[in-house]
Amino acid sequence: MESSSTPTADARASRSVAVCAPGRMKTLRTVAELRAELDSARRTGCSIGLVPTMGALHDGHLSLIRQARAGCDVVVATLFVNPDQFAEATDLARYPRDEQRDARLAAAAGANLLFAPAPDEVYPPGFATTVSVAGVSAPLEGEQRGPEHFAAVATVVVKLLNMAAPDVAYFGQKDAQQVAVIRRLVRDLDIPVRIEVGAIVRESDGLALSSRNLRIARGDRERAGALRRGLDAARASVHAGERDSAVVAAAGRAAMSALGVEPEYLELVEPDSFAPVPRLNGEPVLMAVAARIGDVRLIDNELLADRRA
Ligand code: AMP
Repeated sequence: MESSSTPTADARASRSVAVCAPGRMKTLRTVAELRAELDSARRTGCSIGLVPTMGALHDGHLSLIRQARAGCDVVVATLFVNPDQFAEATDLARYPRDEQRDARLAAAAGANLLFAPAPDEVYPPGFATTVSVAGVSAPLEGEQRGPEHFAAVATVVVKLLNMAAPDVAYFGQKDAQQVAVIRRLVRDLDIPVRIEVGAIVRESDGLALSSRNLRIARGDRERAGALRRGLDAARASVHAGERDSAVVAAAGRAAMSALGVEPEYLELVEPDSFAPVPRLNGEPVLMAVAARIGDVRLIDNELLADRRA
């Protein structure tokens, strides 16, 4: 997408090192520190890119940091495991945390600031506000994880956008419904930020990178490939001419069953609203899938341009 050898990127890189964010990456704990750093960068005319993460960084996160590095003068990666967006206490408790490793990786990928606040800094005593996005939050992940999930995501993303006031915020297509929720809230609340979306980064066998992949039991690794296989089979059915989404989804489910995996859902939806698409009609559709592999819940998706169009 962006090439670091273009004159613009080179000029930006030297400007950013010289003026916008000199020295080594800094780790910041408080909103006041973050604002002080960014206010002075902003006054110098430097653009700010924000990459929100929950840590346990892998190449998917790092690709977003690199994208921000190429597009903005100052790159802020955030590291905050948002307790509110976990429906299951065990999932939260088991979420991998290694700040030193994350800091090393974020710095190597080009982050200038790592914002790693304590939960109290984000949710001080008395915190009482929730941002909820109707419609797009409801199906699929919203149904499986409960209505609190996307409300928690929306609330923390609005807070991070207000804390950093970035020019651009970067999110991964891996969490396609999260992207749709965030695009909706940014439009609805007139938040002055551009949203950029990074492509899904995958293992060589097609499994989408996820912090949760570390928890897949060795014996389950092959079955984890079922999500990618399901999407492949659904796509093949569309390319063979099928237009009935139920038949397309059934082809995907059958491919998953062959590996002993029953998806929580495999559905074709409209990519912005996440409304069901009963028949392919020439418009792009998103195929989204979720499944449990042992006790690890995985999601994946693929955007299909209807070839008939
Ligand atoms: P998380 O730490 O899981 O909240 O993810 C932080 C950001 O990284 C989100 O915008 C995710 O969509 C993105 N992300 C996670 N996994 C991947 C991946 N495999 N490829 C690209 N982006 C990803």
